[in-house]
Amino acid sequence: MSHRILLLGGVTEALAIARQLGPEHVYSLAGIGRVPQDLTCQVRVGGYGGAEGLAAYLREAGISLLIDATHPYAAQISRNAASAAQAAGIPCWALRRPAWQAQPGDDWREVDDWAGLIEALKPFKRPLFTLGREPLQHLEEIPPEQFWTLRALEACAGNERCEVIGARGPFQIEDERALFERRRIDVLVSKNSGSVATEPKLDVARERGVPVLILKRPVLPVVDREFTSSAQLTTALSDFSVRP
Ligand code: NAP
Repeated sequence: MSHRILLLGGVTEALAIARQLGPEHVYSLAGIGRVPQDLTCQVRVGGYGGAEGLAAYLREAGISLLIDATHPYAAQISRNAASAAQAAGIPCWALRRPAWQAQPGDDWREVDDWAGLIEALKPFKRPLFTLGREPLQHLEEIPPEQFWTLRALEACAGNERCEVIGARGPFQIEDERALFERRRIDVLVSKNSGSVATEPKLDVARERGVPVLILKRPVLPVVDREFTSSAQLTTALSDFSVRP
């Protein structure tokens, strides 16, 4: 029996896995970021219409293994993946990056949600937001004593209390140092993505004694197999594909 894999992507490691997949397999993207044009496997862009839509796709396309390699904060698609695979009677594997761990000298403060974040930000004046686009919805709520710097994948208009910088990782520590210096950052706001590409900002915060407000990771569903690196997943995949 030949296997057909549906790989849900959205992070760098997922693309590395997609590059190893043959033409019968499908790499699935939400359609927010760049869509690679040079893959051997098929590429599908856009949502499925929730867990039921995904389950229907799994059946129709004859998928025999679903791999969730989405971002650790993309909780909705991960929940959909686990329940759709169960409904379709196929295994669901997940690639889940380990969270960053605080080191000596770090001042990390975990917050549950946006309201908790705004409360924890009160003592500070010049936060650097590295949460993606979500803070853009709150530009009109910036207190008069604060000036925000917001880094997202694409630059866009800010306002008189916020500058928006467009930049894609990986980030180099010298550039992060320069950014903290230039913007006089007194607090960093981050998810705990666990990505090596965006880790230097944490080193700079530690060097400068700048506190970090960390948005708590969402709880993700239990899956059949969980991997912490793409190397582990690649090994498991080569065993899976030779299985009858
Ligand atoms: P989300 O809230 O978990 O998902 C929202 C909806 O987007 C899903 O219900 C699904 O639509 C669709 N979707 C998400 N990932 C998909 C995929 N790989 N293939 C097809 N449809 C997908 O996710 P999000 O936080 O908006 O993130 C969207 C995408 O960006 C994800 O693929 C994620 O890996 C990537 N990303 C997210 C972050 C982050 O911080 N959240 C950071 C970097 C990259 P339907 O219900 O219609 O199927």
